[in-house]
Amino acid sequence: MSEVFTGSFTQQEPIPEAGIAAAVTVLRGGRLHRYNTAPDETAETAALELDFAAATGARYCLAVASGGAAMRLALRACGVGPGGRVLTNAFTLAPVPGAIAALGAVPVFVETTPDLVIDLDDLAAKAWPGAVLLLSHMRGHIADMDALMSLCAERGVRVIEDCAHTMGASFRGVPSGRHGVIGCYSTQTYKHLNSGEGGLIVSDDAALMAHMVLASGSYMLFDRHPAGPPPDAYADLKWTVPNVSSRMDNLRAAILRAQLPLLADRVARWRARHDVLEAALQNVHGLALIRRHPVAAFVASSFQFRLPGRDGDAIERMLARCAARGVELKWFGRSDPLGFTSRHDQWRYAPAQPLPRTDAVLAGLLDMRLPLTFSLEDCALIGRIIAAEAVSNAPAPTGRTQGD
Ligand SMILES: *Cc1c(COP(=O)(O)O)cnc(C)c1O
Repeated sequence: MSEVFTGSFTQQEPIPEAGIAAAVTVLRGGRLHRYNTAPDETAETAALELDFAAATGARYCLAVASGGAAMRLALRACGVGPGGRVLTNAFTLAPVPGAIAALGAVPVFVETTPDLVIDLDDLAAKAWPGAVLLLSHMRGHIADMDALMSLCAERGVRVIEDCAHTMGASFRGVPSGRHGVIGCYSTQTYKHLNSGEGGLIVSDDAALMAHMVLASGSYMLFDRHPAGPPPDAYADLKWTVPNVSSRMDNLRAAILRAQLPLLADRVARWRARHDVLEAALQNVHGLALIRRHPVAAFVASSFQFRLPGRDGDAIERMLARCAARGVELKWFGRSDPLGFTSRHDQWRYAPAQPLPRTDAVLAGLLDMRLPLTFSLEDCALIGRIIAAEAVSNAPAPTGRTQGD
């Protein structure tokens, strides 16, 4: 009888008790809006911004409604508007091109390497002076940031980092989000800190941060941002920056603030789970693991591998066999978008762009969530199931469909 995994790929850990207590305190106080404070009270939202700035070493921090809102605010602050073009990864999640399209701008997709990072040769070919690159560290894979940042400096390209999958990661000791002019993070349920929805922005640039604080919906209360720039940064901008209401509230901030001290431990636990899976799949014929840059300290809230050269029907059959044994894999080569997984050619609001290298990689790319509720034994079992099914030529089981 073959082994079956019975855990849930969508079950996150509970909110820590300290976060529940802090949330209840906010609820009892009734002051959920960030600018609704008692005399001498620091709002949970402002306190979270101070804590996250300290954790990342950033001069300024702003908490917002979502990772998507963070990216839209960052793009606005960099002057992106209707008709503008923004460089971004062809392999990323839909909120990234969505943030660009929301401003009436157009994504210019850059190719993907087999290591799942942005292709620096294609970036060099497509970059122009004054461009903005919305760099997505998709699925936690970090490009050679030394090479990327020097290329962008040389070409006059400003970098906004999408760190939805790299909170707690670093490159050569520099925290992810601290290489570009702005770093954007998500605290959506499946990311590294969980508030259901939410986002964080860091920057050292006073003018950019003042723009984002104003646009996030600070009214004329920008002095209530202890992790924001000094008042003179707002002097001119306060007349010209429209309020696009993207604030975080004190309830979510309270939940997040209690989780922030746990981040380093979570990173280590994710890494341990990822290592077990990688070991289990190390020598599976026809299965390629994703290489990491040696100086990237990654955080792995998911797991990817490739089945290069395998045809689509064979991959579908393998997915169905894994699903029948309780292992939920997503495939980026599917012609129809399903669940969270969609692809550049399926974002029809963006002009179609030939991306043959990305397409070749995605055609064989498999993806799996790795929640911290999985034990190391769970990961070993999942690894055995994938290893067995990746080499099997057995037909797909009947009566089961691959769901999300
Ligand atoms: C989740 C995610 C975001 C932001 O998502 P929100 O749901 O808006 O917080 C951005 N980029 C990537 C790659 C993501 O996975």
